[in-house]
Amino acid sequence: MPARILDGAAAGAAIRAELKPRVDALHARVGRPPGLGIVLAGHDPGSEIYVRNKLRTAGDAGIRAELIRVAAEAPVGEVLATVAALNARDDIDGILVQSPLPAGMGDDAETRVIDAIDPAKDVDGFTPVNAGLLVQNRPGLVACTPSGVIELLDRSGIEIKGARAVIIGRSDIVGKPMALLLLHRHATVTICHSRTQDLPGVARTADILVAAIGKPAFVTPDFVKPGAVVIDVGINPVSDEARVRAWFPPESPRLAAFARHGTLTVGDVHPAVAEVAGAITPVPGGVGPLTIAMLLANTVRAAEARLRT
Ligand code: NDP
Repeated sequence: MPARILDGAAAGAAIRAELKPRVDALHARVGRPPGLGIVLAGHDPGSEIYVRNKLRTAGDAGIRAELIRVAAEAPVGEVLATVAALNARDDIDGILVQSPLPAGMGDDAETRVIDAIDPAKDVDGFTPVNAGLLVQNRPGLVACTPSGVIELLDRSGIEIKGARAVIIGRSDIVGKPMALLLLHRHATVTICHSRTQDLPGVARTADILVAAIGKPAFVTPDFVKPGAVVIDVGINPVSDEARVRAWFPPESPRLAAFARHGTLTVGDVHPAVAEVAGAITPVPGGVGPLTIAMLLANTVRAAEARLRT
């Protein structure tokens, strides 16, 4: 039987609707909407799309999102100065610096920029302060994608407590915070990475399998215990027609979409996994909309917390 589809678009819309009264209350109390500063350095095409979505979705939710552009050839100091200015502004409650930064800014640019963000305005949850608070299960701003996954599991009635969770991927923005959130919710957690031995065998122990790898269709049915919940975090643009044809059956609407656009966004999970899993997130329309909803939720939380201090 094909897996139940976990509808991230609907869950994201519900979260945004629930935020609306809190946004309105903040607006009424301080006489301005919650403010989100988005810093975009350079013109990476993927980043342009992500930022446009964030600006639109924030605006729809009553949050004032402001885009500050930095030239691709600027030194990292210009991004640091932009962040410092946003830290100091009273009308800005949240700050996000879109990744990736231009390569010319240096290997340590991302770390330097994250370190410069005021943790109270760190709506991506990437600063060491917020990462440390998460390790200790103390209140803080938590990375949006993994906290969105928890929301989706909860709203889909999937029990986390006592479940065996396997996460493939150990990045600071997805894999590690995902593991901590599941651990704090009393799952038994295993983190896998590129050096894990017998990856399919480890993945098959999972009741909840999270794929955050960045490799299209990497997780095949042999990774999945029948009936498991599979969360596909991957967002991979693919333009190789032969690969796309190999993944999707001839009648799949995804092939028609590929024919129209010449490219297709594919998750880390192979489409055939839907025949084995009990529940699965689609790509697109799974984890992605939750990431944006949690960004807005973090902005509202940051604004509320700043009012209390
Ligand atoms: P990273 O590249 O930072 O991390 C990838 C992880 O996958 C690493 O830990 C790496 O292991 C592991 N990995 C790579 N190859 C293998 C392999 N062959 N076997 C096992 N593990 C492997 O990626 P991110 O965490 O930033 O993102 C992962 C995916 O999620 C991407 O597709 C990204 O676009 C997507 N994403 C989606 C979001 C959303 O809103 N849906 C938000 C953020 C990301 P190692 O550490 O050993 O190198």
